[in-house]
Amino acid sequence: MTRSSVNDNSPAVEFFVTEDCNGCGLCKNMAPELFQCVEYAYSYFLTRQPNSEKEVDLLNDIVDLCPVDALHQVGRTDN
Ligand code: SF4
Repeated sequence: MTRSSVNDNSPAVEFFVTEDCNGCGLCKNMAPELFQCVEYAYSYFLTRQPNSEKEVDLLNDIVDLCPVDALHQVGRTDN
């Protein structure tokens, strides 16, 4: 079964933000097209999964820089 949000050419990893996000905005500053603020919750979420290796690299940089370790990478499970 293929998930509708991921096409066959997408990188083999996915990212997610946990409830530990403190809303610092670092991720939005580094990748504005990939993050959006939940204003009532002072946190951010991913607008979509990366669609290129360049975006995967960028998100991995943010994983390393997030001050509260709230952004995580996992392998895709739809294969
Ligand atoms: S860098 Fe981390 S803590 Fe800061 S807004 Fe993004 S996910 Fe939240």
